[in-house]
Amino acid sequence: MNHDFIYEALPTRVIFGQGKLQSLPHEVERLGARRVLVLSTPQQEPWAQNVSELLGSVSAGIYSNATMHTPVEISEQAVAQVQRLEADCVVALGGGSTTGLGKAIALRTGLPQIAVPTTYAGSEMTPILGETENGVKTTKRLPVILPKTVIYDVDLSLTLPAALSATSGLNAMAHAVEALYAQDRNPVTSIMAEEGLAAFARALPTITQSPKDLEARSDALYGAWLCGICLASAGMALHHKLCHVLGGAFDLPHAQTHAVMLPHTAAYNSKAAADAMQRIARALNAPDAAQGLWDLAGKLGAPRSLKELGMPETGIELATELALKNPYWNPRPLEADGIRKLLARAWAGEAPS
Ligand code: NAD
Repeated sequence: MNHDFIYEALPTRVIFGQGKLQSLPHEVERLGARRVLVLSTPQQEPWAQNVSELLGSVSAGIYSNATMHTPVEISEQAVAQVQRLEADCVVALGGGSTTGLGKAIALRTGLPQIAVPTTYAGSEMTPILGETENGVKTTKRLPVILPKTVIYDVDLSLTLPAALSATSGLNAMAHAVEALYAQDRNPVTSIMAEEGLAAFARALPTITQSPKDLEARSDALYGAWLCGICLASAGMALHHKLCHVLGGAFDLPHAQTHAVMLPHTAAYNSKAAADAMQRIARALNAPDAAQGLWDLAGKLGAPRSLKELGMPETGIELATELALKNPYWNPRPLEADGIRKLLARAWAGEAPS
């Protein structure tokens, strides 16, 4: 077998398990920080209050206005709060939106971040930040953006509603699917991708039935960690490009768009990335990768059409055009006709083909 790859491990310290939030004061001390700003969304502010109490005298305060897609105005407000409170570290408690704010602060101030993720988005493991300004999203990849420490506490994921657990999980699985056929894939990331897909395929059906099932929650969070590393370590392709285009052009919700698109983008690439598809199918315990992803989304009750997410049918043409502009590398070349057909099926909620 011929091997030819580059592999670079990213230096985040990871603490994983039930009740691990309790290790936060120790982790703050390890970083030598004395004045911590705790970040959250408005919905999770009570959680931020609890964390601030847990930190006691090293808590400098809370900023609870984290917002989806990291708007620059919010990041600037948060940086002003950092300066006012003379904070020397941030703790981002929440999903990708809150992690994004922690990263935006680190980018502007160089402060260390501790991420405590409560969804499966995976942003906490990446040196990537997407910021929006005047409706335009730009993405940066820099070492300073990567959190120093990540605490995965299974207990914090128990309240993630069943529907959001399903779409957030499928969003994470998309990172692993694309890592398996990435141009810069490597053996270690591919092992993690397959393991991450299998963990989610086991856990998500149980979680949607019993959201408080600890074992399934632990498995899903473990999958989120693995899939986050995949996003950080391998280039993303057609699937991420299309989700980016659809989110930007039609303001579609992030995780749900990933959930709808994944079976269709896998089908588009199925012949050109046959080895990856075999590994995906094996992880899903399904005869075919695209069909397996479609069946899983159906079993979870996740959205399966762009129509139900609010995209107009007339948008298919615009999305096709935008997808072909500055395309990402993809195992199968981007063909207008094929992309249009893929989008039409995804829009209508038809099975992938
Ligand atoms: P989110 O962070 O916006 O969270 C969605 C909602 O769920 C919020 O109201 C949040 O407060 C709530 N919530 C989160 N965890 C909860 C829990 N355990 N219980 C109850 N409610 C909970 O959503 P998301 O999908 O995690 O993140 C999406 C954002 O992350 C997007 O902006 C996306 O671009 C970004 N993202 C970035 C990267 C990266 O590497 N840069 C990777 C993935 C996602």
